[in-house]
Amino acid sequence: MLRLSSKTRQILLGILIILGIVLILTILFMPEDRIENGQTETEKNLNSGESVELETENLDKDTGYPKYSGQPYAVIHDNIPYFEDKELKAESFESYSELDELGRCGVAVANVGQDIMPTQDRGSIGSVKPSGWQTAKYDCVDGKYLYNRCHLIGFQLTGENANKGNLITGTRSMNVDGMLPFENMIADYVKETGNHVLYRVTPVFVGENLVANGVLMEAKSVEDNGEGILFCVYVYNVQEGIEIDYATGNSWLAGQSDKQNGPEKYILNTNNKKIHKPDCHHVEEIKEENREEYIGSKEDLLGQGYVTCGNCKP
Ligand SMILES: [Zn+2]
Repeated sequence: MLRLSSKTRQILLGILIILGIVLILTILFMPEDRIENGQTETEKNLNSGESVELETENLDKDTGYPKYSGQPYAVIHDNIPYFEDKELKAESFESYSELDELGRCGVAVANVGQDIMPTQDRGSIGSVKPSGWQTAKYDCVDGKYLYNRCHLIGFQLTGENANKGNLITGTRSMNVDGMLPFENMIADYVKETGNHVLYRVTPVFVGENLVANGVLMEAKSVEDNGEGILFCVYVYNVQEGIEIDYATGNSWLAGQSDKQNGPEKYILNTNNKKIHKPDCHHVEEIKEENREEYIGSKEDLLGQGYVTCGNCKP
């Protein structure tokens, strides 16, 4: 064992004390906000407090996704899908959930490959009435109809026509502006490369609502591990200028309440061009294909050649 003379020990002790004092002084005179991890207090507040608060403020408390801010979709989870690596396989498949007790769709997932893409033209899907389905027409909607029967996994990807597990009540805007560009991206990629894309679409229903507030769309190309296709987005089931009651699918022009003093709701017979009040007993006699719900002004209808019913006198 090393033996030190008492003088050496004194010198060492002295050095230790000086080092200690220097350390204490450094800590005391260091600006307070520089102490931990090189992060200032201000930065720490921003990182832990304020930004989290901002984030939760931007989240819709019902869906857990960012509030609608005018864009058709929001990027989620840094645009990285929540897939596990073991899910990435080079074999095509598709799977759809059973409808739940309210008749609502669940998650739909497909490993899209050329071998399951459609070879025939799209068939009719008009027979399917997804949960919350209503026929509602507005002048401000492209194509007039507020709702489309909206494929979870687009027809061009897996060729599913009237599959109840794959069709939800979606706005024109969600269908065309929100979902379609992403579907096109996948379809183009698969056609060009022959690779697979793992693709999952999850409709987001709040509580017992019959109409989804939006859909989560996740996709990752398999053979190149996401180099070709990689996204994770939440697409809003909204339509500019229209307000929707997601519980029922009812809708009305924005700013005009459904219940009080709103635009009137009529039931039309598109065959004999009659306008009825919704509670008129003739409404039940109208054939399904001729019956249409209309929310708006009676004058507009009269201008289109409609006449009022003599019974209910709308
Ligand atoms: Zn009537």
